[in-house]
Amino acid sequence: MCSKVFVIFVLVPASFLVILLALNTITSRQRQFQWDMNRKDVTSLPQLDRERIQQRAERLAKALTIQTISWERDVFETEALLQLHQHLKNSFPLIHSSPSIEVNVINGYSLLYTIHGNNNDKNDGVLPPYMLAAHLDVVPVANGTWKVADPFEGRIIDGVIYGRGALDDKSSVMGILEALEFLLENKYNFHRTFYIGFGHDEEVSGFEGAGHIAKHLKETGVSHLDFVLDEGYFVLEDLVEGVDDLVSVIGVTEKGYATLELSVEMTPGHSSIPPKETAIGVLAKAVLALETNPHPSMFGHGPEMDFFSYISSSAKIGHSVLFSNLWLLSPLLSKLLSRSPVTDAIQRTTTAVTIIQGGYKHNVIPGSSSATVNHRIHPADSLDQVIEHNRRVINDPRVRIKVIDYYPPTPISPYGLDVSAFNLIASSVKQIYPSSVIAPACSPANTDLRRYVELSDHLYRITPTVLTPVTRGGIHGDDEQITIEHYHNFIRFYVALMLNADQPEAGHLTVRHHREL
Ligand SMILES: [Zn+2]
Repeated sequence: MCSKVFVIFVLVPASFLVILLALNTITSRQRQFQWDMNRKDVTSLPQLDRERIQQRAERLAKALTIQTISWERDVFETEALLQLHQHLKNSFPLIHSSPSIEVNVINGYSLLYTIHGNNNDKNDGVLPPYMLAAHLDVVPVANGTWKVADPFEGRIIDGVIYGRGALDDKSSVMGILEALEFLLENKYNFHRTFYIGFGHDEEVSGFEGAGHIAKHLKETGVSHLDFVLDEGYFVLEDLVEGVDDLVSVIGVTEKGYATLELSVEMTPGHSSIPPKETAIGVLAKAVLALETNPHPSMFGHGPEMDFFSYISSSAKIGHSVLFSNLWLLSPLLSKLLSRSPVTDAIQRTTTAVTIIQGGYKHNVIPGSSSATVNHRIHPADSLDQVIEHNRRVINDPRVRIKVIDYYPPTPISPYGLDVSAFNLIASSVKQIYPSSVIAPACSPANTDLRRYVELSDHLYRITPTVLTPVTRGGIHGDDEQITIEHYHNFIRFYVALMLNADQPEAGHLTVRHHREL
């Protein structure tokens, strides 16, 4: 009797479950995303030859010698920015002399290129214009820590270009213009109008650069861009656990940002007769409460769940079972993600206490204390929810919370096979990296795209080059680098994208879904 019960209530359901998990895994491993590969065949164009690869690398290397550092908001190297403008003019003579290309300097140091299509009238049933974005500025470097080459030397050693900006983001600036110059050399006439926007202060807010480019566009009557593509994620190699293939990550949103100040005011006094609680003690308990009660996991509310379902077909079998059955196993995956700060940041609003102040003399109990808390807000979270959570876990009305700085997460742009702009970018990526798997994600870092939110609801992010565990450390770190070969593919991506976007059918998909594959 007992064994009968075991069979009916345990073994049979368990077997069904195993079969279901296996079937889901098999189905998902067989699923191929048919990104529209009928795009313009880039191989039919003259190929970029070896000698030109070297020249292009040298032009990038020269751009890396120009110290366009953004130090802090409103503090950037204006002379260097103007030098970089001159370098672009010298490097790309066809672009800068073409009668169909207009170049505007925006707010002194940013650049806006308008490539006028010959089929151009906005109301003519022609596709609306799109924009390629990148930034001219770079972050500062730590003194003397670069091992291979100096950060502003622009050296090429054994096929690798070294320098601040090699990945973030002068390769985008130079790569986009190389692609355009190449197409002009080949007498390509664009049908569709598009823009290239280079901000000059992305690293310190983007307010003066991209913010003013957006303003300029609106003032000149451009109210809608089909899509905007900016830097962001990369083509990841050996960086996604459980997947051997390259993973081409397209950012479809980015986290928001909030800096809060916690403050406590209490009666000051002499340290010889201390009260039970002090301003420092109350604040310390609040900080502890925030650190021990992280914001809730939002796994499944942003693009993170789709990231795993998109890569499930390329994952190793064990990972594939997990990624293909998130309807059941997402709590397990969420738990696994929470084990490392890097992966945990994907699924929730993060909390970092960055400054703490209180007291000024060793025998005086201070009357006040304060702490600064920096949150990166998950796209499914909001400032109100963040503050609400903080108040609840601190649970002490003596701790006041003030917002110092805030901007919201960008809305999640539509993605999937049936979203034209996403499909266009994905299929262009696949033309250059055919073996890679495409996956949508939320970018943990911020870009200039938040300045373009009012101009388009299709904002995407990819820096179209391979990022490895070695090169990853160079972004805002030491020995920033890109190989000449990778840079070559970088340019090929933009050639493919510009040609694909110029096809009349580039906008034929109109249905907008988030989750539908
Ligand atoms: Zn950047």
